Amino acid sequence: MFDLIIIGSGPAGLSAAVYAKRAGLNMLVIEKDSMSGGQIINTYEVDNYLGIPGINGFDLAMKFREHADKLGAEFAEGMVTGIETISEGTDTKAPVFKVNTEKESYEANTVIIASGAHHSKLGIPGEEEYLGKGVSYCATCDGAFYRGKVAAVNGGGDVAVEDAIFLARFCEKVYLIHRRDELRAAKILQDELFGLPNVEVIWDSVVKEIKGETKVTHLKIENVKDKKESDLNVDGIFVAIGIHPSTDMFADAVGCDDSGYIIAGEDGATDVPGIFVAGDCRKKRLRQIVTAVADGANAVTAVQDFLVGKERA
Ligand code: NAP
Repeated sequence: MFDLIIIGSGPAGLSAAVYAKRAGLNMLVIEKDSMSGGQIINTYEVDNYLGIPGINGFDLAMKFREHADKLGAEFAEGMVTGIETISEGTDTKAPVFKVNTEKESYEANTVIIASGAHHSKLGIPGEEEYLGKGVSYCATCDGAFYRGKVAAVNGGGDVAVEDAIFLARFCEKVYLIHRRDELRAAKILQDELFGLPNVEVIWDSVVKEIKGETKVTHLKIENVKDKKESDLNVDGIFVAIGIHPSTDMFADAVGCDDSGYIIAGEDGATDVPGIFVAGDCRKKRLRQIVTAVADGANAVTAVQDFLVGKERA
């Protein structure tokens, strides 16, 4: 029986773990992957986390985890499948929740959901068929396979532009395919991208199909303005069209918006007393490492306030 279970060990979950240990809470972090860090472990450079400009995402994730380990945070590996309310609690008694994983169940008086988000899919023919054979969602993981080759990146946000910049370092040619005529990415990234001689942006275009033989050979592209279709020869495509919250398993437990983001204010309190949310899976304006880390700290403060004066099981 724990005071607090934290689901997820990305920046939000690890920040919550640090604050929880420092608050003297009896806590457990449950992580589905063998490694902590969430999405940042696949980010080759983080340049906007205050005080550590230009740090590699993997290195930053390791620093976060080391910090939590140093304070004695307890971790368990497991894919969480849902949260059950065992008892609702009263003004004087804390509730009890059961957090189920595929193999084990754990009980706690409070829960912080920090399960983050994952890559969105295009949902087009060839995307699943050529996964790992030219289709990737992670340039830092798979980019090295495209040395001297031609790669496409689909998307217009920070991730797509960062991926294109990264791939341009060793690919012969990089196409950035975007559905509009302006990018969503930060200006500083756009400026860097537009200065690269081996990057070509294909504006107002969507990928309709990924084609190949044993591996990807070309993309079917449609210009959304004139509806003209064309083939683009590439060795691979990196899909970077945004993220989707990893909250499907909590949809019955707490209130979510239409996109699946868990609804909560800055304190992370959901519509279920005792269940809190932190990080990218919370409905909010800005999803960055700094806001995830802040969410983790705020949620633990709210957990402490929630438990004051309540008898814990
Ligand atoms: P994002 O900002 O949501 O951008 C997604 C991009 O994909 C948009 O350009 C969007 O087009 C396009 N798109 C969405 N659905 C599409 C579809 N079905 N077909 C074609 N294009 C589609 O996502 P992200 O780049 O993955 O970034 C996620 C979050 O992480 C953002 O908040 C971002 O700021 C943050 N992040 C920050 C940093 C950093 O600060 N260093 C680095 C990485 C990520 P439209 O523009 O037309 O909507």
